[in-house]
Amino acid sequence: MKDIAQLVRPNIAALQPYSTARDEYKGELGILLDANENPYDNGMNRYPSTALKEQLRCLVADIKGVAPQQLFLGNGSDEAIDLCYRVFCEPGRDNAVIMAPSYGMYSVCADINDVGRRMVPLEPETFALPVDRLLAAADSNTKLMFICSPNNPTGNAFETSEIERLAAGFDGILVVDEAYIDFCSKPGVLPLLEKYPNLIVLQTLSKAWGMAGLRIGLAMASSYIISIFKQVKYPYNIGTDTISLALESISRDIAPQVAEIVAERDRLAAELLNAGCVKKIYPSDANFLLIQVSDPRGVYNALLEQGVIVRDRSRVTLCEGCLRITVGTPAENVKLEKCIYSYES
Ligand SMILES: *Cc1c(COP(=O)(O)O)cnc(C)c1O
Repeated sequence: MKDIAQLVRPNIAALQPYSTARDEYKGELGILLDANENPYDNGMNRYPSTALKEQLRCLVADIKGVAPQQLFLGNGSDEAIDLCYRVFCEPGRDNAVIMAPSYGMYSVCADINDVGRRMVPLEPETFALPVDRLLAAADSNTKLMFICSPNNPTGNAFETSEIERLAAGFDGILVVDEAYIDFCSKPGVLPLLEKYPNLIVLQTLSKAWGMAGLRIGLAMASSYIISIFKQVKYPYNIGTDTISLALESISRDIAPQVAEIVAERDRLAAELLNAGCVKKIYPSDANFLLIQVSDPRGVYNALLEQGVIVRDRSRVTLCEGCLRITVGTPAENVKLEKCIYSYES
């Protein structure tokens, strides 16, 4: 088995992490003269409570079926993506293998951290996972590999067996971003965590959970990797109100909304196929559709004129001619359909 500790940057492995006042004293009661806060209560004068965040961590871990020690809560998944680079990649030397097209932050964070990136295109048209090409793209300085399933913007999810081949065959850290897993008909790869210490699974409260405004992302991995993330993250990375609102919202049942969004997605996919300007609709396991149209810029502008904003992906390699459309409420989707049906180039 790979020794994950060998993959961590030496300066990070040797880090003496910053310890906050609230780390050292976790209580709520008493006279708090330890953190240089303003003593007058206005609901926000105290630094976030470690106990409250821990409560959220335990609840989310329980929902996901992992141990709390295997879960990191970040300021969006974007914080977790950045932490992967900062923990494992030596700037100016190491590199990451990234499937393409996919979520832009894997590349942006690589650039910010001065980490090389090796873009590996998915199979054209099918957007299938090129497992052998991904493995072949790695060299001894490749510390990270980014896979997104279901993938943004193509919408397809990959088989667990293919992702497992990557986890088994890659000598670095495999990051699987499952931001859209709650909409997906295939199972996610969380069960692989037990077997592969080099796996990190990212999820988020931003999509199906309806909390994009809160900025809470999840990284799940071995307790060893999570302990290092906790040392490297900013102290108090999630604010008090964010934690409280998430605690209120996390116990609600998202299944009815998810079911409606998935049903609307499938209905939209079938309906839009009959529109004159639509050439192709790619199968989706997420809450959006990638559609190929005859005149992407024209359709985009026509929608915009009607106040409907979609994402133009037509200049993305392998997505030529494509728009990415998020599934909205039934009323919003009807409006979208009307606009697309009435479009004449
Ligand atoms: C939307 C999205 C996220 C979510 O990012 P947050 O920072 O958690 O809001 C992560 N990955 C992908 C692929 C996404 O599309």
